[in-house]
Amino acid sequence: MFNWLWGERTPRELPESWRPILTSNATFRERLSPALQQEFDQRLIEFVEAKYWEGCGGLALTEEHKVTIGAHAIRLVLGFERETLRDVKTVLVYPTPYEAKSQEVLGGNIVVEGVSQRAGESWYHGPVILAWSDIQECLEEEDYWKRRHPHNVIVHEFAHQLDYRNGRSADGIPPIESHEQAEEWVKVTDAAYQRLSRACERNQYTLIDCYGATNRAEFFAVTTEVFFEAPQEMAEQWPELYRVMQRYYRQDFLGQ
Ligand SMILES: [Zn+2]
Repeated sequence: MFNWLWGERTPRELPESWRPILTSNATFRERLSPALQQEFDQRLIEFVEAKYWEGCGGLALTEEHKVTIGAHAIRLVLGFERETLRDVKTVLVYPTPYEAKSQEVLGGNIVVEGVSQRAGESWYHGPVILAWSDIQECLEEEDYWKRRHPHNVIVHEFAHQLDYRNGRSADGIPPIESHEQAEEWVKVTDAAYQRLSRACERNQYTLIDCYGATNRAEFFAVTTEVFFEAPQEMAEQWPELYRVMQRYYRQDFLGQ
């Protein structure tokens, strides 16, 4: 299955200073099998080195910012080929949600979270923009269950990038291997989207945040957060959706 694993190339050692960062900010790494952990480390090193990183709004970027963001981005694509995120060349990090002054018409090729106070953005063939304070909130588990919805803003923004991979617009349908799998994807996600929309209209709680009912692109990004952050709960409460996402991401947290 993982035939694109690092293979014959000599694996590089993870820098020592990265280990405590991963221990506290990327706890999922510990649960990977040894082979996948090695694959993860190699991809993370490459990701951190290959991207152009910029701290914005006065943020002095540190190793912790890069390694944390890189780790969650790589986790998302660990079931895919190594080059999956090559179109993301730039990652911009703000200290907190930032003000955006421009009044542009946003098409499907730029996804903006929030209108004037932006927590993140994901551009087609362009940068991923994140607010570090939001990332920190997601990493604090207590906070995350207080809001009663699993969140991971890094996973969310990079999920939009996966969505872009079959065209300019984010439409909630990422590139899918086979016709049969794509049909299943559309059928299951349509039904789940309707279910979420109905629940949100009636103010009923669901595991999936109502932000996912905004449109199909947000549905994909928000349900991806749930898939990675609360797979057990998702498998119980949204079993069909869990199954198609597990098939798409080629990662199964429950079967391990
Ligand atoms: Zn979004």
